[in-house]
Amino acid sequence: MNTLEQIAELERQYLLQTYNRYPIAFSRGKGVFLFDLEGKRYLDFVSGLGVNALGHAHPRIVKAIREQAAKLVHVSNLYYHEYQGPLAEKLCKLSGLNRAFFSNSGTEAIEGSIKLARLAGHRAGGAAKSRLVALDGSYHGRTFGALSLTGQDKHRKGFEPLLEEVTFVKQNDLESLRAAISDETCAIVLEPVFGEGGIYECSVEFLQECRALADRHHAALIFDEIQCGLGRTGTIFAFQSFGVTPDIVAIAKPIAAGLPLGAFLAKEEFASAISPGQHGTTFGGGPLACRVALEFLAIVEEEKLLENVIQVGAYLQQELKALAEKSAAAREVRGRGFIQGIQLEIPARPIVDAGLAEGVLFNSTQDTVVRFLPPFLLEEKHVDKGIRVLKKLLGKKRKKAA
Ligand SMILES: *Cc1c(COP(=O)(O)O)cnc(C)c1O
Repeated sequence: MNTLEQIAELERQYLLQTYNRYPIAFSRGKGVFLFDLEGKRYLDFVSGLGVNALGHAHPRIVKAIREQAAKLVHVSNLYYHEYQGPLAEKLCKLSGLNRAFFSNSGTEAIEGSIKLARLAGHRAGGAAKSRLVALDGSYHGRTFGALSLTGQDKHRKGFEPLLEEVTFVKQNDLESLRAAISDETCAIVLEPVFGEGGIYECSVEFLQECRALADRHHAALIFDEIQCGLGRTGTIFAFQSFGVTPDIVAIAKPIAAGLPLGAFLAKEEFASAISPGQHGTTFGGGPLACRVALEFLAIVEEEKLLENVIQVGAYLQQELKALAEKSAAAREVRGRGFIQGIQLEIPARPIVDAGLAEGVLFNSTQDTVVRFLPPFLLEEKHVDKGIRVLKKLLGKKRKKAA
């Protein structure tokens, strides 16, 4: 068996050096726990970055993968198979949107969304109707289109020129939103809750204004729910938590319980702008991933996991807030359900590093935020353990009385 050091050394030698990994290698998982090479157990508040919403090795997912792997894994999009249509139907019924396209990742779902918005824009307003509006501090992925919409210099630097037709607006700033949109706008793209950007929510008022402006200017309102969608806010789509419906929604992370799958869903008005041959993918929407996604959605429904997200999410928030009120190292708590963050006054990475020794996996983002994206199976006793460890790691220094 390889040791962690051997694994890390091989990667140092042969991998493009793009990742700053934690010094830990996992060999298996069960429910809300992961186990490293030595068999040490870790409580998982990360879910592989919001992907493993059913935890690890869920028996129904294991069974679906086993059965389908023995039958049919891939056929390409030249042919039909049994699962893509039913998955599209299910997602359309859940969202109220009309048509789906399946990709392999979140980034590709964003790319497809903006390609569709461009087609619809050109159809409605000619070649000039091609401008995009996105938010400062957002994250939409790493390909050139998605990166062009990502409002963070640290991700964009070195890769310019990116798409030049993007105007960035401050989140929840109605004034600058109104100034950014014109008849040349073909899409407004936003995450209802910033994920990588540090767990900042769009206000309902801001989302409503985006909706009204998109309607007025015949632009597509595109929500990136790749991280916040599919149950994390307590509703199956995050936009249902905010009461504002987009024209196009991009989803991915948890949809196939760890298998690579993404999708975007569109209203007919926009979906009708595309014709055969204008977009496609070799792997996207294959029988294995689609069958597992159907199973994922069935489990969320049948095991009443959204209720758990709401209930345990509220408990997590209450406990984090109690911690933030006392600890001098913490400022505030943001988010809802199972997408939450605690804003620290100190760097978050050392806290996350120290969590490993305590057998708890936290995640840091934006340098000073500890982000919580736990599996939907998390229980209050797991929250207690996480809070106990976090409290210890943040130190004894208490806030001065106001
Ligand atoms: C993760 C993420 C993406 C990119 O998805 P990939 O599957 O990594 O390509 C895009 N938008 C948001 C909000 C994300 O969290």
